[in-house]
Amino acid sequence: MVVRTDVCVVGGGPAGVMLGLLLAREGVDVVVLEKHDDFFRDFRGDTVHPSTMNLIDDLGLREAFDAIPHKPLSRLDAVVNGIRIHAIDFTTLPEPNRFLTLMPQWDLLAMLAEAGRAFPSFDLRMGVEVTGVRRSEDGRVTGVHAQTAQGPVEIEAGLTVAADGRASTVRDAVGLRPREDGVPADVAWFRLPEPETPLPDTLAWITTEAMLVTFPRPGYLQSGMLIPKDSFDAYRAEGIDAFRDRVARAVPRLAGSVRTLESFDDVKLLSVQINRLEQWHAPGVLFIGDAAHAMSPAFGVGINYAVQDAVAAARALLPALRSGADVAVDRATAAVQRRRERPTAMMQRIQRAVHARIATGRGLEVLQNPPTLRQRAVLRIALPLLRPVVARVVGYGFRPERLR
Ligand SMILES: Cc1cc2nc3c(=O)[nH]c(=O)nc-3n(C[C@H](O)[C@H](O)[C@H](O)COP(=O)(O)OP(=O)(O)OC[C@H]3O[C@@H](n4cnc5c(N)ncnc54)[C@H](O)[C@@H]3O)c2cc1C
Repeated sequence: MVVRTDVCVVGGGPAGVMLGLLLAREGVDVVVLEKHDDFFRDFRGDTVHPSTMNLIDDLGLREAFDAIPHKPLSRLDAVVNGIRIHAIDFTTLPEPNRFLTLMPQWDLLAMLAEAGRAFPSFDLRMGVEVTGVRRSEDGRVTGVHAQTAQGPVEIEAGLTVAADGRASTVRDAVGLRPREDGVPADVAWFRLPEPETPLPDTLAWITTEAMLVTFPRPGYLQSGMLIPKDSFDAYRAEGIDAFRDRVARAVPRLAGSVRTLESFDDVKLLSVQINRLEQWHAPGVLFIGDAAHAMSPAFGVGINYAVQDAVAAARALLPALRSGADVAVDRATAAVQRRRERPTAMMQRIQRAVHARIATGRGLEVLQNPPTLRQRAVLRIALPLLRPVVARVVGYGFRPERLR
């Protein structure tokens, strides 16, 4: 079977679904292919940043968003060696979106997909795994080959957009490789029941031994422990009791909850990567989101950056797609890279610095409890000065996009 469309978007993550919606609302025929049958996977991050909230407002989706259970956080706290630090304060941002929201990513994606389905040219196909690209005789990418439970399918498209994440199949098929920046940490990912007395809103718990993140999801805490890169097997070898003890030492109030981890079958390894393609486009194809630049979990900005890419891509591509000329489309794909590469590189530089100094997977020695006089001065004087800057950088990223 061959399906013909203007744009084939590979990957139904934040970048792909958002781009599909933005193109379809302008009348462009777009097919979005997602290899899973649903959006329900717990390795996805849960953060919706203020700049993504602004876009949700721009799209007129606020009411739909508010109808889904979510948790707005106007401050992000870290507990460092038992000392609570109000690290980020989003109330310093302009109205109306002065908070970060925690919402399971599958709910966010389902909402965007639902909004897309309101447009006849939006065609989201779940359970379709792209296996390679089609090419014309001159080597231009003209769509993809895919596999479904019912058999193979071919998509013929004027433009293919790879939004298929950091292990991008399209990227491999086109023969592009991102430049890797070494990250010293991986994440051990597990669910814990909320303790009887709920934890105060806290994203990170840092001790001299470990760093733990906790996202409240409906009914449980999605938790992640940063561990040194490639050390998961060593943790497994130590056994689940030792792991439970580490979690309990990092967050003593989770000592009861962590007993629910029965074995390492309850703990998944998520590998952390930071990388970036040198060229985000080739004739007939554009790379956005993690397929162009894998983001680490630091500050939870990956979803935001994927969404911002989609907005920039839609803006650049729409006039070119309307012209129907390949050369215009290729110029537009190059323009997307020019617009988004610098903001991405700047954020990745910050993430690398965070991994070099804080999120190393080995715990942190920077703050003593009780703090020294110098540390107290930093907390009292420097932190309040830095807070609005950090709120802007984390909440908006660099060069946030808006829909006009
Ligand atoms: C441990 C960890 C925690 C993180 N936590 C956060 C967080 O809290 N907040 C945050 O903002 N970011 C977080 N990130 C980063 C974030 O997950 C990514 O930056 C973001 O999801 C990128 O979005 P995307 O749409 O580009 O790609 P993805 O979200 O990876 O989506 C790609 C989609 O493509 C599909 N796909 C892949 N291959 C194919 C194929 N061949 N055919 C069809 N479909 C395919 C996949 O199934 C997937 O649905 C985290 C990353 C890690 C590693």
